[in-house]
Amino acid sequence: MEAIQKKDIRKLSLAQLEEFFLAQGDKKFRAKQVYEWLWNKSLKNFDEMSNISLSTREMLKTHFTINHIQVDLMQHSTDGTIKNAVKLYDSMIVESVLIPTTKRITACVSSQVGCSLDCNFCATARLKRMRNLNPDEIYDQVVAIKDEAEKYFQRPLTNIVFMGMGEPLLNYANVLEAIDKITSPEGLGMAPRRITVSTVGVTKMIRKLADDEVRFNLAVSLHSAINETRSRLMPINDSNPVEELGESLKYWYEKTKRKVTYEYVIWEGINDDERHARALAKFCKLIPSKVNLIQYNPIDEGEFRQASQESVDMYVRVLESQGIIAKVRKSRGQDIDAACGQLANKNEVAELNEG
Ligand code: SAH
Repeated sequence: MEAIQKKDIRKLSLAQLEEFFLAQGDKKFRAKQVYEWLWNKSLKNFDEMSNISLSTREMLKTHFTINHIQVDLMQHSTDGTIKNAVKLYDSMIVESVLIPTTKRITACVSSQVGCSLDCNFCATARLKRMRNLNPDEIYDQVVAIKDEAEKYFQRPLTNIVFMGMGEPLLNYANVLEAIDKITSPEGLGMAPRRITVSTVGVTKMIRKLADDEVRFNLAVSLHSAINETRSRLMPINDSNPVEELGESLKYWYEKTKRKVTYEYVIWEGINDDERHARALAKFCKLIPSKVNLIQYNPIDEGEFRQASQESVDMYVRVLESQGIIAKVRKSRGQDIDAACGQLANKNEVAELNEG
C-alpha cells in the first residue's frame, strides 16, 4: 500500500495547479507549462515533459498520476468509419467513433459508461449505467480521434457529436467541463459551433443549458411528437412529455437564438403514417429547427423495423411543404456495430462492465 493516495493531476484546474506549485516553493508559471503538456499536448507520463526539471518531474510523480484512457481495440469499417473501444483507468470500457465524409471528420463520443434511460430501440440501453465519465475521459476520446484523423486521413478533426454511449445532460457538469477544455486555447481550441450535444430531452437540463448560455449546438432525439408513441419508445417521455419538451426548447431558443436539430427514426407500423409526420411538422414550427431522419440500425430481431422508402418520402414531403428542412441520414459503420444506437461493447467488454 502506498502512503499517499495519488491524485489524478488532471482533476486540478489551472488555478489549483498554480497553488500547488506555489506551496511547493516553485514558480507559478510552472503550472501553466505542466497544464499545457497535460491538455494541449495530451502527454501520458511526466517523463516526457521536456522543459520541466528531472527533480520536479519526480516530485510530481510522488503526488499525482495521469489517468489517461487507452484505446484498446480499433475496428475499421469498409466505409472508413473507425470504432475505438476505450479502456478507462478502472478498466471500464466505452466506445467512440470516427466518421469521415468528404467535407468533415466527426468524432462521436460517449459521456457515460452504459446508460440509465431505457429507450427500447437502443443497444446501449441494455447496459446499465455504471458511472459518469470524467471531463478528461471525454476529452481524451476526442484527442484519440483527432490523432486517428491525422494518421489515417491526413485531415483535421472538424466536428464533435455527443451521440455515443450515455445521456450527456445527465452528466452535465463533466460534459460542460470537457467542452470547455476542448474549446479553450490551452486545450484543443475548437470552435463551439462545431460541437453538438444530443439529448433524449431532459427538459430541466435543456433550460439549464440555456441559462448557462452555452455556445454549442443542441440536438434532441424526438422520434415522435405524439406523447403516446413517444412514451412507448422512450420512457423518459412520461416525466418529460412533448409539450414540456417544446416549452423548454422555446426557452432555449429565446436565450441562445440557436436552431435545434431533431433526430428522428421512422419505424414501420409505429410512426410511419401521416398523422405522425404532421405532428412532427407542427412541433418543428415551435422554434427554428431542422430534422435529421436517421436510418434505424437493427439491434436484434425484435419489434422495430426501418420504415419503407415511401414513408420516408412522405415525411420529407410533409416537412418540406411546411418549409422545414429535412435530411435523410444514411447509417455509417454498420458492419462494425459503430452506427447510431449500436454502441454496446459487444465483445467480452460488456461482461467486464457487468463486473
Ligand atoms: N442519449 C443521447 C445520445 C446518445 S444516442 C440521446 O438520446 O440523444 C444518439 C442517437 O442515436 C439518438 O438520437 C438515439 O435516439 C439514436 N439511436 C439509438 N438507437 C438507435 C438505433 N438502433 N438506430 C438508429 N438510431 C438510434
